[in-house]
Amino acid sequence: MGRAGSVLVTGGAGYVGAHVVLALREAGWPVVVLDDLSTGRLLPLHRDCSVVLGGVGDRDLVRETLARYDVQAVVHLAASILVPESVRHPLAYYRNDVAVGLALLEACVAHGVAAFVFSSTAAVYGVPERSPVDEEAPTRPINPYGWSKLMFERVLRDAAAAHDLPFVILRYFNVAGADPELRAGPLPDGPTHLVRVALEAALGLRPFVPVFGVDYPTRDGTCVRDYVHVSDVATAHRLALDYLLGGGAGAVLNCGYSRGHTVREVVAAVERVTGRSVPTRVAPRRPGDPPEVVADARRIRDVLGWEPRWTELDAMVAHAFAWMRRGRPAEAATRRAG
Ligand code: UDP
Repeated sequence: MGRAGSVLVTGGAGYVGAHVVLALREAGWPVVVLDDLSTGRLLPLHRDCSVVLGGVGDRDLVRETLARYDVQAVVHLAASILVPESVRHPLAYYRNDVAVGLALLEACVAHGVAAFVFSSTAAVYGVPERSPVDEEAPTRPINPYGWSKLMFERVLRDAAAAHDLPFVILRYFNVAGADPELRAGPLPDGPTHLVRVALEAALGLRPFVPVFGVDYPTRDGTCVRDYVHVSDVATAHRLALDYLLGGGAGAVLNCGYSRGHTVREVVAAVERVTGRSVPTRVAPRRPGDPPEVVADARRIRDVLGWEPRWTELDAMVAHAFAWMRRGRPAEAATRRAG
């Protein structure tokens, strides 16, 4: 497998993106980050790569970047990712997550990119008929976010077939945690996913965790999700590149651990890890929340040889907690300087 050029990571300043940058740099890849910093932010780790500030939709900038940095492979993570926002602003989601990606693909085909890794989501399955859900399960998204990811999957597969663009689609389940060495972690103003909400409640930053539904047909009545450590997700991207550059065929891969935890189990983990109590309050079901979404993740292990390291829920929570407590160094430094 040749490593003639560099890897372009779109959205490399985002939550998953920063961890992908770490994984690629650790493997010796020269990395170029393309990010408009609309939600992401630059961290010290980004000093170790080239950073191009701008949007994926800027065709000239993308073309110039591919040529200038001799980009061999692309990891496309830049996207809008908030489900409720996607319901309110569907056109913005179809623009950001489909149309903009289409422009990127055109540039990649013209440039002759040798590998393309796309971050998709378990949201493409909608409310899965069965759980664990495998990659052949019907895809029936239930919101514009899921649809936009599925549409781009389709576009990518068709383009790959016609233009010899090797691709891997990674369908993430519930990404959580932070880099164990605390070089990256969840963004301060990132989405209010369960682990964050529970940690904030443990720290007294919010009064309680609303538990959205306690009468689901699950072991304790609360929803089950497959929580996957962000560093393991990042490793999957690195392995996907090696696989593709080694001649691997196009693949769609679930990225989860094949096991789920209930909302109450997550809350209990947060209590164990933090040593603090986490008040909860029963709240109505959230519309569109499937009772259980767990990956059948046999394929990613077979195809990529992925061996996740941080499968314990407590590790994910502990790393996220440590990152949160570490605070916001940039802002803190500014405050000190001021
Ligand atoms: N959840 C909850 N309270 C919260 C946030 C989330 O009960 O404050 C539940 C939510 O209903 C779902 C699970 O936790 O069953 C994971 O939700 P999250 O928003 O983290 O991820 P999603 O599965 O929606 O992508």
